[in-house]
Amino acid sequence: MRNFRVYADHAATTPLCDDAWHAMLPFLREDFGNPSSLHSWARKPREAIAAARQTIAECIGAESREIFFTSGGTESDNWAIKGSSGGLMVSSYEHHAILNPSASEAKRGRDVVYVNPDRNGAITPEEIEKKWKNGIGLASVMAANNEIGVLNDLPSIAKLIHAKGALFHTDAVQAIGHVPINVKQDRIDFLSASAHKFNGPKGVGFLYIRKGLSLKTLLSGGQQESGARSGTENVAAIMGMAAALRFNFEHMAENTQRLNGYSAKIATALTEMLPSVRFPGELSTVKLPGFLSVSIPGHPAEGLMHLLDLKGIAVSTGAACDSKSTRISHVLQAIRIPRAQAKCTIRISLGGENTVEDIDYIINAIASVIKPR
Ligand code: PLP
Repeated sequence: MRNFRVYADHAATTPLCDDAWHAMLPFLREDFGNPSSLHSWARKPREAIAAARQTIAECIGAESREIFFTSGGTESDNWAIKGSSGGLMVSSYEHHAILNPSASEAKRGRDVVYVNPDRNGAITPEEIEKKWKNGIGLASVMAANNEIGVLNDLPSIAKLIHAKGALFHTDAVQAIGHVPINVKQDRIDFLSASAHKFNGPKGVGFLYIRKGLSLKTLLSGGQQESGARSGTENVAAIMGMAAALRFNFEHMAENTQRLNGYSAKIATALTEMLPSVRFPGELSTVKLPGFLSVSIPGHPAEGLMHLLDLKGIAVSTGAACDSKSTRISHVLQAIRIPRAQAKCTIRISLGGENTVEDIDYIINAIASVIKPR
């Protein structure tokens, strides 16, 4: 029998795609020059960065001068929160890359208002309207939640926030490359992205800043990124990110259909196996492709995760970054999942390289764990 290993934790990170790998290689060795140098070694890296910026801009409907390279999602989120001014509105189920800087801004005296998702896991315009306070300068609502995969209606949220006279930031780290996002049509002012969530390398991302807007600088020094974000560019990583984003955009329609079929197959099989199984956020029809949050009563998530790991399957309990803690996930709490159910909730997040054999293997492995013969 083939020794199967199935990676089903793409919300934590994704494997590097071939296009990204090939785009990166020249800039790790032969074209190593510093793009800011004045001699000819700088030419190729400088031109490559300009092309990467253009590719990324085209994928999200932006202009290349609106794309600012960063070290990843955490930096982009911190920049948007700490670099903005006025009061803040953030949703209570954001990633800690938004929640923690918002809490430190509150300690420094900034007004911070929290909005809660509904039971389906979405932030509604009604909730924003209800909690709105004068003086809010920036509202930040994530495009897709990293634990339950629910997508927010960005254009409606942005429209309302603009009508209130504030700016709109979205943490699109989980969404970019997986669902279509167009910053102009969706009326987004600031958007955070991270390459390792869409088959690019780790430690690189970008922040979209709509032209005409600015944020206080987090990292000052040299004149890179028009002086808005200093530091010698990670040229190879930037090249990998642009190639990965283009690759994902080209395969988005096919992946969406296939991965949604796979997650539906797992959901149906688990429901037949154990009718008491629950899917947090299941009432929401708008989800990331191939994303399944599953509560299996009587099977604590951590134990289940380890048993599946022994069978060569990677899934996650809540968010990967939080997996070391045994606290109940703040996301499941925010959508009012009972404590006992939250403790038994795992996250299965599929990706482009998963096959139908992987799906059958996952179903059989869960069956053997929850119904030992
Ligand atoms: N925002 C969301 C929604 C995420 O899921 C993550 C990573 O898990 C981050 C931000 C942080 O991104 P990075 O790992 O690039 O710092």
